[in-house]
Amino acid sequence: MIDNKLKTKLKQLEEEYGYVNVELYDSKRGTEYPSSTTIKKMYGLSLLDILKDQKIKSKDEYLIIKNRPVSISNMKLLYLEHGEISKSLYSEAKLLPSSEYITKHYGWENIAKEANVKLANAQYNSKEDVIKELKIIIKELGYIPTSKEYESLRLKPSQETLRKYGFTFSEAMRKSGYRTYNKSVTIKDKVCSNKDCYRQFTPTEDEIYCEPCFKELRSRLIKEIEGMSPQRLKEICQRLIYAGNKQNTILDIFNNM
Ligand SMILES: [Zn+2]
Repeated sequence: MIDNKLKTKLKQLEEEYGYVNVELYDSKRGTEYPSSTTIKKMYGLSLLDILKDQKIKSKDEYLIIKNRPVSISNMKLLYLEHGEISKSLYSEAKLLPSSEYITKHYGWENIAKEANVKLANAQYNSKEDVIKELKIIIKELGYIPTSKEYESLRLKPSQETLRKYGFTFSEAMRKSGYRTYNKSVTIKDKVCSNKDCYRQFTPTEDEIYCEPCFKELRSRLIKEIEGMSPQRLKEICQRLIYAGNKQNTILDIFNNM
């Protein structure tokens, strides 16, 4: 059971800052509250787990709420200036949150609708723009769809747009750095979920990282082991014995360090 005093403190911090994460807690908790490391020892739960359990907003969740009105007003401003909106205009204006962020979290067209602005017929300035956009959208999707699937997911750029720019789906995918399937497959290729990595790989279990990224993460974990308390090492060891060293388990250990 988590101490009520601690629960109240977490709520208080959330009210004050809009969110709580480990970093914020440790720097703002004050001396009468245990550090995140001590919490882990006391409850056998990470602060992250407690935050989730108490439904305290994470920084990402907080930013998604906070950035929504900003996105709408950015679109309105840009519209006043240009009389229409496209992702390229938006990116050129170097506005934040980025068009990728808006597309991912709210939907580009939803925000345009809310801002009551007109989207330009051509959302892309060039072939490069279209390819860049496709690269991002597939990374967000997380796997390589067939062209049929891509169509039914109603992703943008649409295949009609791709054709307008002279690409078949496969060509556009290849230019974006992905391979499409030339025969039917039972396991779909994934795109690495590590930030900024766009590598395509065929999963053997339910990996989410490509091999090079996973290797790098493992070597970081090995370095971390050096400074770990015997208690923590014991926990990790037990976990590995029970769950095995599958990628998901290793990632989870890494994320809860
Ligand atoms: Zn990767």
